Amino acid sequence: MTFSMKEKSQYLQQLPQVNELLMALEGKSDDVALLKEAVRDALDAARKGILAAEDGERCRALADRATIEASILSALAAKGRPALMPVVNATGVILHTNLGRSLLSEDAIANISALTGRYANLEYDVDAGRRGSRHDILSGLLREITGAEDAMVVNNNASAVLLAISALTAPEGEVIVSRGELVEIGGSFRIPEIIELSGATLREIGTTNKVHPADYGRAAESEAAEVLLKVHTSNFKIMGFTEEVELPALREIADRHDLPLIYDLGSGLMHPLTDVGIREPDVLSSLAAGADLVLFSGDKLLGGPQAGIAIGKREYISRMKRHPLARVVRMDKMSFAALEATLKSYRNPEKARKDIPVLSMIAKRPEDIQKEAEAMAEALKELGYFAEVARDQSEIGGGSCPGEYLDTYVVSVEDPKASAASLEEDLRKNDPPIVARIRRDRLLIDARTLRPGDTDTILRAMKLRKTSR
Ligand SMILES: *Cc1c(COP(=O)(O)O)cnc(C)c1O
Repeated sequence: MTFSMKEKSQYLQQLPQVNELLMALEGKSDDVALLKEAVRDALDAARKGILAAEDGERCRALADRATIEASILSALAAKGRPALMPVVNATGVILHTNLGRSLLSEDAIANISALTGRYANLEYDVDAGRRGSRHDILSGLLREITGAEDAMVVNNNASAVLLAISALTAPEGEVIVSRGELVEIGGSFRIPEIIELSGATLREIGTTNKVHPADYGRAAESEAAEVLLKVHTSNFKIMGFTEEVELPALREIADRHDLPLIYDLGSGLMHPLTDVGIREPDVLSSLAAGADLVLFSGDKLLGGPQAGIAIGKREYISRMKRHPLARVVRMDKMSFAALEATLKSYRNPEKARKDIPVLSMIAKRPEDIQKEAEAMAEALKELGYFAEVARDQSEIGGGSCPGEYLDTYVVSVEDPKASAASLEEDLRKNDPPIVARIRRDRLLIDARTLRPGDTDTILRAMKLRKTSR
């Protein structure tokens, strides 16, 4: 027997009225218009569903009043949910590119809130009582911390590289780069394309694995040669039969041919981290080794807001400040507020290690992480999970420290009643979302990147999914 239109219309008539639902759900949302919209949408969906249904059982389910009310409430919750929201990073990857890279220090956060609800002297010289330039705001502080002649700050390091090359080359001028350093950084930042975009010409030298000073020397003899560019291969490592030319040797070649030497350092480590086993070039050594300009991100190992920082020779920095692109890639005042506070921490390197979350997470001792992991594993066992603590390695990530890992301990979790994939999904869909890794059918939680309160959030989510199934 086919399912008749007559039966369908009975189910359609059973659907609750808009007003009934509005009354039943009164107070579930402060926004009456939003509630009305959600009610109408839910009834529309139920009506369409019934018209398309193939049997009575499906229609009964769609017309069920409790189901309709639940769908209205979940639509309201989804509308109230922000597009950008906090997440718990349980991956152990400190500079997680997908999770916003670096976290700001307390000082940086306080300075943002102190400055953003008010007017500020972003482009106003208070002493002189006239227009000032945002490009000069942090120059003094950066000079003080790095000893560089001058400095400027733009929107991100990709912008700093584009601006530096654009400002220091004439159209068709040659930028000399080793083939082994023609990198791509996350998505669409590729050195060859940035050079092309600037209007300059890329002069590739050497091979993928080796480049020699003589290769630079020969290229620098060209009439068209305008810039020596060295790029830190910040997100990969070539192993084996390799050779690159370091800054001091490049300095000599740059002097011999009177060319500016730009170093795209990327990761922006201010002081060395060799004492915690991380070998990564740093800003101060790069400047001391002879780079005319050192370019780096604000939100990688510097641990500040998204920013691109250029430090070095005054002549080159002023050419960058005067270039039309400087306006295109200028930074916002919130970021200036955060960056100033971050940089001030570096006046005292010990304080920076403590105050800047990226640095304190790198320095977190494995034995402390182990303690946190053990406490969490115990609590998870009580909730009915299989949980054990295992040795593992954390990545720093975010285009820095390739091949360098930090010893850590992870909680390795299994739900005897569900797959690792469904456990991962439940946590990801939690409010706030919890992002963790899966390996060999186990969910791994690395406490290195957890913030205060995150452990409770994880345990609450783990408990909730046990009770709601
Ligand atoms: C990360 C990185 C960039 C891009 O910096 P953003 O701040 O992400 O724009 C450029 N060059 C190098 C070497 C990098 O590591």
